[in-house]
Amino acid sequence: MDYIRYQNGELFVEGVAVREIAKETGTPVFIYSQGAFAANLRALEAALSQTRHLVCYSVKASSNLALLKIVASLGMGADIVSGGELFRALKAGIPGGRVVFSGVGKTAREMAEALDAGVFMFNLESHEEMELLGDIAARAGAVAHVAFRVNPDVDPRTHPYIATGLKESKFGIPYGEAARLYGEAKKIPSLKIIGLDCHIGSQLTDVAPFQEAARLLGELMGELKGQGIAIRYLDVGGGLGIAYESETPPTAAAYVAALTSATAKFPDLTLILEPGRSIVGNACLLATEVLYNKETDAKNFVVVDAGMNDLIRPSLYGARHAIFPARENVGEGPLKKVSVVGPVCESGDFLAQDRLLPPLRAGEYLAVMGAGAYGFSMSSNYNSRARAAEVLASGEDFQVIRRRESYEDLIRGEIY
Ligand SMILES: *Cc1c(COP(=O)(O)O)cnc(C)c1O
Repeated sequence: MDYIRYQNGELFVEGVAVREIAKETGTPVFIYSQGAFAANLRALEAALSQTRHLVCYSVKASSNLALLKIVASLGMGADIVSGGELFRALKAGIPGGRVVFSGVGKTAREMAEALDAGVFMFNLESHEEMELLGDIAARAGAVAHVAFRVNPDVDPRTHPYIATGLKESKFGIPYGEAARLYGEAKKIPSLKIIGLDCHIGSQLTDVAPFQEAARLLGELMGELKGQGIAIRYLDVGGGLGIAYESETPPTAAAYVAALTSATAKFPDLTLILEPGRSIVGNACLLATEVLYNKETDAKNFVVVDAGMNDLIRPSLYGARHAIFPARENVGEGPLKKVSVVGPVCESGDFLAQDRLLPPLRAGEYLAVMGAGAYGFSMSSNYNSRARAAEVLASGEDFQVIRRRESYEDLIRGEIY
């Protein structure tokens, strides 16, 4: 089912017109489809039906409590990268026992909080981190369940900022050092080795890198077994891509087949997945209002009320998002090549460059598609812009799940 589509010339999220929401809440506004979000989670579950697994939604992709509550209600877990994300996951009712803690720079405080919450697994990324967690767990009289995140040096063929599994990357431990580190962790009584972890990058549109990583992880598990170290949980990270424009990402089934291709010889293994983008990316659009048209000799600009502080992906990664008018046949006249830019005082503040769009008058609404992942969660207050509202549409109804920030919100915590 298409949860976001035109119907009689109006763009709808589920049963609600984008223009109706935009008029009621103002713009910019992120509009999520509850149905699409849940359907993406269920599709992954279905693809995993023959495999022991735990799906841990990657909180940083989009971390609104209303979304995390859907994750909790489906009995799924969370992949977190900070104490703040742990706080959110627990608040939303995701039990600590279904949380995996990733990240290259966990602090002592975050580790203690995570131990306290009984997180399922710490994914360790360095020797020093292993020692610190060992000390903290020992002092707390606890045993921390751990995996090492290994860096298999696989090229995910994605944007360099979101490639994480190359050997130049800050993430993970080098593949060749894994066996030795596992051997050291085994000697620390306050650590219990349960898993092996890897996350090679984001927005992968080809299964080959996943398959190659799985093969290397399978080999490593065999080696560890020879050392008397049993890996029961294989955490394969996230990274499945989505179609922003004309990309053709693998299906959930093809993705799972690639992940399990090398693990069949470990029948007791439970697979952990940390999907973010593939769950929430296309379950949301960013609605923005056209403020001005500005035509120069060199370029035509459509100035809108959403900027790089709301959606930084185009500026940060050169990402391309499809942009649709909320009214399908909005402008009379031929398509025009325009750049859609925001109000922020940076030349890098654009949502799209040189895109063919119909003539757009001030007051019309545009939808920036595929804005759910790394959209609101990467937004900021730059230029003292209040962060956008978030809305969840479900059937004929919609609900504000985060109020637009006020000017008072902007100065909260400031001392003057
Ligand atoms: C960001 C991240 C994910 C999610 O990646 P997606 O590409 O959004 O699926 C999963 N695991 C880790 C460790 C991450 O840092």
